[in-house]
Amino acid sequence: MIAWQPTDTDLAWTRTQLDALGVGEVWDAGEMKYQRTGEAELTLLTRTERATEAHARVLVALEALEWGCVDDDAIVTPDDPVEQLQQAQEFAREWRCPNEECETLLVDCDLDAAAWVNMGMQPAIALDGSEMEAERWLVDVPCSSCATPVPMNPLDYALIAGDDLFHTFSTPEMTYRVLSREQTIALIDEGGEGFALGSRGINGEAIPPHMQGAFCTVEVESETSLLEEE
Ligand SMILES: [Zn+2]
Repeated sequence: MIAWQPTDTDLAWTRTQLDALGVGEVWDAGEMKYQRTGEAELTLLTRTERATEAHARVLVALEALEWGCVDDDAIVTPDDPVEQLQQAQEFAREWRCPNEECETLLVDCDLDAAAWVNMGMQPAIALDGSEMEAERWLVDVPCSSCATPVPMNPLDYALIAGDDLFHTFSTPEMTYRVLSREQTIALIDEGGEGFALGSRGINGEAIPPHMQGAFCTVEVESETSLLEEE
């Protein structure tokens, strides 16, 4: 236990939080998330690594209010961004096809064959919290067992597909592969040619936002579609 003791104000505040929480509901306390799992019981779902002390204080306050807390199975998010990413990738490797009769792991599907789908402008929240519109994209991953396309958030797709596939954009006509700085230098030194991406590609097609402004190679997938346009 820690030496910290809650004041009456601390306890009254905690009481207010608990009173407002129905059984099954989640209390989002910033660095910690608790679910009410009983009459006088919370379960810690997740917390950040740095919230060790903050969570210990909640435990003290709960004890004073005669509430219990289960925290054995809580997911602790590492403070280090690299470890955070590794943990997110580990969890993502367990994701399964959403079709209830299918057990296939998404990581085992043909991630190369994913199709980027432009959903158009959608309401979004800006970094400063204001409402805005942003172009929304999904990645349809074909399930290798039931052939159901699984629509994924692009950042979720990146977790299972890795950086190279995340930075590859294919249409039926073209494949754009973003180059790293080192790859760009090697390509130019060898006399090769690349293409700097704006918001539109060579055929006027929309380019996913995370690839705009990048330097890439272009492969033509289908000559006929190019000839038809001429
Ligand atoms: Zn499936």
